[in-house]
Amino acid sequence: MLGRMMHKHLLISSLLEHAELYHGGTEIVSARTEGGFDRTTWGEMGQNARRLASALLARGLEPGDRIGTLAWNNMRHLQLYFGVPGAGLVCHTINPRLSPEQMVFIINDATDRMLFIDATFVPLVAKIRDQLPNLRAVVLMGPRDESAAAQIDGLLFHDDLLAEGDPAFPWPEIDETAPSSLCYTSGTTGNPKGVVYSHRSTLLHALVGNQAEGFGITARDTVMPVVPMFHVNAWGTPYMAAATGARLVLPGPRLDGENLARLIQAERVTVSAGVPTIWMGLLAGIEATGADVSSMTRTVVGGSALPPSMRAAFRDRHNIELIHAWGMTETSPLGTMNFPLAKHDALPGDQADLIRQGQGRPLLGVQLRILGDDGQPLPHDGQTQGELQIKGHWIVDTYFAQEKTALTWDGWFDTGDIATIDADGFMIIRDRSKDIIKSGGEWISTVELENIAIAHPKVANAAAIAARHPKWDERPVVIVQPRPQSGLDEAELLEFYKGKVPGWQIPDKVIFVETLPLGATGKVVKADLRAEYGDVLWPEEGRGL
Ligand code: AMP
Repeated sequence: MLGRMMHKHLLISSLLEHAELYHGGTEIVSARTEGGFDRTTWGEMGQNARRLASALLARGLEPGDRIGTLAWNNMRHLQLYFGVPGAGLVCHTINPRLSPEQMVFIINDATDRMLFIDATFVPLVAKIRDQLPNLRAVVLMGPRDESAAAQIDGLLFHDDLLAEGDPAFPWPEIDETAPSSLCYTSGTTGNPKGVVYSHRSTLLHALVGNQAEGFGITARDTVMPVVPMFHVNAWGTPYMAAATGARLVLPGPRLDGENLARLIQAERVTVSAGVPTIWMGLLAGIEATGADVSSMTRTVVGGSALPPSMRAAFRDRHNIELIHAWGMTETSPLGTMNFPLAKHDALPGDQADLIRQGQGRPLLGVQLRILGDDGQPLPHDGQTQGELQIKGHWIVDTYFAQEKTALTWDGWFDTGDIATIDADGFMIIRDRSKDIIKSGGEWISTVELENIAIAHPKVANAAAIAARHPKWDERPVVIVQPRPQSGLDEAELLEFYKGKVPGWQIPDKVIFVETLPLGATGKVVKADLRAEYGDVLWPEEGRGL
C-alpha cells in the first residue's frame, strides 16, 4: 500500500455545507412573487434545505424520485436546489413559459412524484392537475393559503414541510454519480428531452466554471442570477455562489429592465448572468431610471449570440464587461467563455473586438471539434466552418429514460451548431445548422446579419431567416423590430449592410414587425418566423407548397 488520500464523493450538499460553515452570516436577498423581499442567510439556507430534505424523505420519497419545480428565482427554489439533491432525490426544474400541453408531457415523462409551485402557477396547475396521475402532491411554495388550497386537491405548503423537517438533518453519503437534477431541452423541434445531471457533473461544472477565467465569483461578490433557475440550473450560479459564500440576489418574477436596474442599484450587485434579450432590456432600463449601476463589473451573456454593439454599449456607457459564453442544456451549460489571451492585448482595436465577439474558448474539462459533411474533422484555423461537437465531464451521454447513447460512435455530442475554431481554441458560432442560409451553394450566417441590424440605432431587435428562392434555393430575409417612432425604412437598413458583408449576403428583404416571437428561454423562435415569412420571396402561385 503506497498510502492514499481521503476519498469524499463530490456532492451538492458539500457546497451548501461550506457556505453554512464559513459564510453562515452572508445574506441571500429574494424577491417575493407578490412584491417585496425576503432576506435570509447561507446559515438559514443550510437549516431550511436540511428541513426540506428530511421532510421529503419522511413522506416516503425514495432515492432517485423526481421532484418538479415551477418557480421563479427565489429563496424557496434555492432550498429545493440543495435540499432535493441533498436528500438523494432529483430536482426537476420545469420552464413555466412552456405551453400547458408541453408541461403535462414533461411532468408525466419524468414521472415527477411531487410538484413545488410558486403562487403564480396555482391557476395553471389547477387546470392540468387531473392529467398528472403520477404526482402524489402539489406543494405551494409559501405559507398556508386557503384560497389556493380550494383550487388544488390535497395542496401541501412548503412552509409546513419546513416546520415538519429537522434543521440538523445530516446529509446522506450518496454516490457522486447519482442523478441530482433534471432539465428538459426547449423542444423547438419535436418533444423535449430530459438531461440528467449528476452530483459529480454539477460540482465539476461549478468549480471549473467559477475559475478566474470563468464566472470568477468570490466571497466579496453579490451575484444576481437573472437567468432563470428553470434554465439549466441558472447556469450553475447558485452552486458557484454557495461554493464561494457569495451574497445572492434572487430577482423573482419581474425581469424587466427598469426593475433589474433598480435592484442592481439597491443591492449593489457586482455580477450577473442572462440571455441577450434581458440585457437589451436592462440597457433601456438603466437609461429610463437613471439607476446607479456602478457596483456591477461584469455579466455573463449566452444562450444566443451577444450582439457586438450591445457589448460596446455596456462597456462604454456603464463600464460593465459582458462576457460572452456558449452552452446548451446538454452541456450543463458551460462549454466556452470568452477571455482574450495576453497576446491579444497587442492587437489593434477592431481585431481585439473580433476576438471578444466570439463565444470564447473551452473550459478545462471539455473539448471541441468541428466536422465536415463527410464526417471528417476540420482544421482549427479560424476560417473553416463545420458541425460543432463537444465532449467532457458535464456533457450528456444518454437522455432521461433512454437506453441509447446520444453520442457519436467515438463518444462526442453533436451540438447542431455550426462553428469555426482557431488555433487557440477560440470558437465562433456561425449559426445553428437548422438556421443557416444556403444561397446558391454558399452559406450565409444569420447571426452575422442579425448583429449588423441590431447595431443600427433605430433597431430594437432583429432576426434573419432563410426564405425559399426560385433561383438561389434560399435567400436572407431580415425581420426587424424597430425602435418605437424611429421611422426606419427598408432602404435605410439595407444601405447599412453595405461594406459590412459581401454584397451577395445582403438580405433581399426587410420585414418590420412590432415584436419578435420569443421562446420559453428568451430566444427568438426562428421556426415560427420561417413558417410565417419563409415564402415571401417565392412567386405567389407556388407559396405554401
Ligand atoms: P438551450 O439548450 O435551449 O440552452 O440552447 C442551446 C443552443 O443555444 C446552442 O446549441 C446554440 O445554438 C445556442 N446558443 C447558446 N449560447 C449561444 C451563444 N453565445 N451564441 C450563439 N448561440 C448560442
